[in-house]
Amino acid sequence: MMKRVLVGLVLLAALGRPTVPAAQAGPTASPVTYEIFAVRFGVLPQFPVANLVAGGDKDRKLDIPVMVWVLKGSDGRVVLIDSGFYEEKFVTRWKVQNFTTPAAAVSRLGIQPDQVSDVILTHMHWDHADGADLFPKATVWIQKDEYQYYTGEAWQDPKRRGGGADVDVMSKLVKRNMAGQLRFVAGDAQEILPGITCYTGGKHTFASQYVGVNTVKGVVIMASDNVYLYQNLTMHAAIAQTLDAASNLQAQDRMRTLSSASGIIVPGHDPEVFSRFRSVGEGIVQIVGDRPSSAR
Ligand SMILES: [Zn+2]
Repeated sequence: MMKRVLVGLVLLAALGRPTVPAAQAGPTASPVTYEIFAVRFGVLPQFPVANLVAGGDKDRKLDIPVMVWVLKGSDGRVVLIDSGFYEEKFVTRWKVQNFTTPAAAVSRLGIQPDQVSDVILTHMHWDHADGADLFPKATVWIQKDEYQYYTGEAWQDPKRRGGGADVDVMSKLVKRNMAGQLRFVAGDAQEILPGITCYTGGKHTFASQYVGVNTVKGVVIMASDNVYLYQNLTMHAAIAQTLDAASNLQAQDRMRTLSSASGIIVPGHDPEVFSRFRSVGEGIVQIVGDRPSSAR
């Protein structure tokens, strides 16, 4: 009897966290699809292209957007890919123009911070991870290896001292974990939410990830900084900041395969995103709508 109670308890614990109903609703349920929006919350002025594209033109500079990406699910779920930044030190140090907080930028889509149920962090850099606490009810998703490295070993090599992670950003994420609001993604090709799959191999950071999103046009790849600019794709040039250029190029090729139905790969900092897609508000474009005929 005791054993049965124990088994029951273990089962209950395993089922403890509420999961999305649609994914488990059985084979007859229609798959969840997402509308996707790119939301700009500032501009980094005159950024050297050579710091974005390996072998890029050393004299060319570009005003590059800082963005978050909003996914609105057919099941009502609102997911953010990356969370941007808002701490004053970053805004000042990087002379960010037209800055608004990522939460304020997202509110232009009619989305309040509390409505965001999940934030997927592609990597630990400050410009993508600092703003997670602007969305207090969200579960934050991060690759396990990425989190472990940038809260651990990255700080133990005096030459690397964090390897590009920021002490305050990491401290906030540690607290988020201790508040029970952080979940690990266990490696490559993990469907963490219905219709949302995380992939590794871009090697922008130790275990950076990119995201495949189910849409009415097929899978769209949200590359984040694993591809900085469209130019990386058209020139088949690795990003300038990668730990492994060969792996980065392989990831690019894989992104093309994964997104072959939609033909859409969204880079992390390309201003052209805002002219390629339909504007639906200040600093916001709709990358895919909720019907096949909409957008693009
Ligand atoms: Zn970035």
